[in-house]
Amino acid sequence: MPTLLLSDRDVARFLPVAECIDVMAGALRHVAEGAAQLPLRTVLPLAGTPNAFATMPAILGQGADASLGAKIITVFPDNVTTPFDSHIGVVLLFDAAHGTLQAIADASSITAIRTSAVSGLATRLLANEDSSELAILGAGVLAMPHLEAMCAVRPIRRVRVWSRSGASAAAFAERARARFPLEVTAVASAREAVEGVDIVCTITAARTPVLEGAWLSSGTHVNAVGASLPAARELDTAAVVRSRMYVDRRESAMREAGDFLIPRSEGAIGDEHIVGEIGDVLAGKLEGRVSRADVTLFKSLGLAVEDVAALRHVYERARAAGAGMEVSLGGLRSDH
Ligand code: NDP
Repeated sequence: MPTLLLSDRDVARFLPVAECIDVMAGALRHVAEGAAQLPLRTVLPLAGTPNAFATMPAILGQGADASLGAKIITVFPDNVTTPFDSHIGVVLLFDAAHGTLQAIADASSITAIRTSAVSGLATRLLANEDSSELAILGAGVLAMPHLEAMCAVRPIRRVRVWSRSGASAAAFAERARARFPLEVTAVASAREAVEGVDIVCTITAARTPVLEGAWLSSGTHVNAVGASLPAARELDTAAVVRSRMYVDRRESAMREAGDFLIPRSEGAIGDEHIVGEIGDVLAGKLEGRVSRADVTLFKSLGLAVEDVAALRHVYERARAAGAGMEVSLGGLRSDH
């Protein structure tokens, strides 16, 4: 069978954020059951720049129905001031029966949607049911799909958004108001955004804290998404210390999450501070929020299984709809 090329539009059409939340639940349940292989990602820094080239392979599921895939991307944080996304590349999907290349898809859109959907899943598992006030710190690519994900899982009514420049937050608030029947306000400081809200999403490229623990009300749930390098963090030590901390994957957090590693290096927390993986909460193996007053924290790093599961979903839906563009890369022998 020829390979299907899937554009950002195909991804947006076949992977709505709300639908992707359940796709991510399926993928992370596989991880919790040990039915996935996912080595740590390989990140090659481009010397003298904040930029990197990353590869993330994974196998999801077992036997002939397993999905084999990889994401290959550049990460250029300063692209925020250009017309280009900060994450650019492709996600590949192979089948486990013959190893054929089934699909190649736009990675920027898959990354934004699956990351937001995983935050949605963590929020569904950990936030208080009646959470209605949301703060978003950062107003880049991830902001709109995060708003969509939060609205899919909790009865959000009011949103405060802050960004470094202010201009991106104001523009986001305007777009969000046009799209959702919500009160969305751009505010001048992260503190003003966060104080008194039920849910906080940190989705900035900051390397030093934008969120302080002292600002958090009891009962708040935090999705910490933006920092994915050992030396970078969005949360100060106090925010992490006062939280029940969950991760997408413990092994990745131990190696890659500055939000965990920096407070640990200061002696403020130990390894046991990570309560566990959200896949285990999903599978009923691990307790989530214990009391209404808990501050819960989901530290997201992003896993290749999420990209592979997302592409498998897009691929199956696109094939059924006759969408995408076929190219001959599927490995069909020339003598057949
Ligand atoms: P964008 O480049 O589109 O947006 C980045 C946002 O961060 C902008 O609002 C920008 O502010 C803000 N920002 C940049 N530098 C700083 C700083 N020093 N202090 C405070 N704010 C800053 O990125 P995305 O929305 O695509 O991604 C956001 C972050 O999430 C990135 O760090 C990215 O690497 C990470 N990410 C994590 C994933 C995961 O799975 N956990 C997956 C994908 C991305 P302004 O608008 O004012 O310029």
